[in-house]
Amino acid sequence: MTVEELISFGKSHIHKTQAEMLLAILLDVNALELLLMLDKKVDDKICEEYQEKVLLIKNNEPIQYVIGNVNFYGNIFKVNKSVLIPRFETEELVENTLKYIKKYFPLPVNIIDLGTGSGAIGISLKKKLENVSVTLLDISEKALDVSRENANELHADVSFIQSDMWENVSDKYDVIISNPPYIRNDEEIEDIVRNNEPHLALYGGVDGLDLYRKIRDGLLEHAKDKFLLALEIGDLQKNDVINLFRDIPNTIIVAKRDMQGRDRMIFVFRNIDVIEE
Ligand code: GLN
Repeated sequence: MTVEELISFGKSHIHKTQAEMLLAILLDVNALELLLMLDKKVDDKICEEYQEKVLLIKNNEPIQYVIGNVNFYGNIFKVNKSVLIPRFETEELVENTLKYIKKYFPLPVNIIDLGTGSGAIGISLKKKLENVSVTLLDISEKALDVSRENANELHADVSFIQSDMWENVSDKYDVIISNPPYIRNDEEIEDIVRNNEPHLALYGGVDGLDLYRKIRDGLLEHAKDKFLLALEIGDLQKNDVINLFRDIPNTIIVAKRDMQGRDRMIFVFRNIDVIEE
């Protein structure tokens, strides 16, 4: 089949932009190059792969899983169904945390990413900061395999721990960052999310707060005296999550909204003179 014929097949099943984007990715060309090769015959194997992937997208597989990767904070991360697809909101958690590390911590700093999934958060921090050691932790071996591949591919020298939150952790950290599962077990979520993304990475118990409680339980044992805890939260969880950390002496808790104006991040600063915010 020619490029034109394939696009026409794609368009008959999925959105034109997606049909073209998918083919461009499989042919390793950009959008303009694709349109300049409409008459070109495409290798049978690629034709087959394209048609299969078009039908997967038509059947409501997230396009990121079908393509197999996603851009997060300027780097390409491999994803599969063992890991959550990194979201735009989480880039804001990374952005704010980078700002705070630069502002309040003399380097070197050691950072742990709890429930790393694809490794998007921890690897992004490692890529942006000189002289930090980063540990990626996940309960799922399959997720750790993905994060290992991403670290290799992106040349990020990080460590890995398989653990249910703090269980197998022995060090103490300056910065603890996490986007834990926080959806309530009975919460209605989009079909495309519920039917495809790992429930282990989505659901946080009856009130969605189980993993924040686990983080709180081991926090003082695994954080240095001065620390920053950076958490992504569900948009209705701000007060509940703040309440979990209120009792720690010498802390300042800052909540931030994402670009859509939803409560999305909680930063717990301990023994840090927080200016502004
Ligand atoms: N933000 C994700 C969603 O809306 C949930 C991620 C999580 O539970 N940490 O699907």
